[in-house]
Amino acid sequence: MRTKHLILFLAVIAILALASCHSEKYNSEAASSSKVVNVDTIPSTDRKAGTTETSEQVNASEIDKCFVVTKVSDSLWSKMQTGSVVKRDDLRHIKVLHWDLDKKTHIGELICNRIIADTLVQIFKELYNAKYPIQRMVLPHLFGNDDEAQMQANNTSCYCPRTVKGTKVMSKHARGLAVDLNPLYNPYYKSRKDGSTEVQPSTATPYVNRSKEFSYKIDDNDLAYELFTSHGFRWGGDWKSCKDYQHFEWKGIQ
Ligand SMILES: [Zn+2]
Repeated sequence: MRTKHLILFLAVIAILALASCHSEKYNSEAASSSKVVNVDTIPSTDRKAGTTETSEQVNASEIDKCFVVTKVSDSLWSKMQTGSVVKRDDLRHIKVLHWDLDKKTHIGELICNRIIADTLVQIFKELYNAKYPIQRMVLPHLFGNDDEAQMQANNTSCYCPRTVKGTKVMSKHARGLAVDLNPLYNPYYKSRKDGSTEVQPSTATPYVNRSKEFSYKIDDNDLAYELFTSHGFRWGGDWKSCKDYQHFEWKGIQ
């Protein structure tokens, strides 16, 4: 009988310990995102496409209406169809809320494949609830679909009609099946046998050393990593021949 009680007691202790670890992780995510950190790119409020609201302006009961998936409108399609390899019906327009290090709520939007639209909204809602910092999320045609330009502006995006970096192969971004998150601080990096290196965006060299601590850094302890990988995405930071720390791509379709 005593042994039974002892086993029960130990089981309860183990469950409580696991629960406290989990909540501590989420609290620390929220706490770290509320630190005031100097951001070295222009604030979202300076861009026409981004809108900023204070948390008071977003009524808690209205939150769900701020995370929406819609079809691509005529006016949007006319701006973005250059070079598209995906049918308009296969794409969706997502609007979400996101926090930044300025402690403000921003309205973000991206285009993605309809296959992952609901999943992405769910992920971005969880990131919002945890106050995970995302600096900017506006549509790539505002940068002329120039990936280097939007990465330098630290713009989070999904659909972008372009090739894989350094090749002529169409990227998973061209089908709206990959997300680049806070790309300036999570660059693409390749080290070649001849000693040369490639960093994209070109301004991201300070963020190639992943042993350093800095804002927006994605690693395998990060909440975004946890959410994307548990929802069927693979992370470019796990690749062997190069690293693409900003990149999460859908595993469902090759
Ligand atoms: Zn990418």
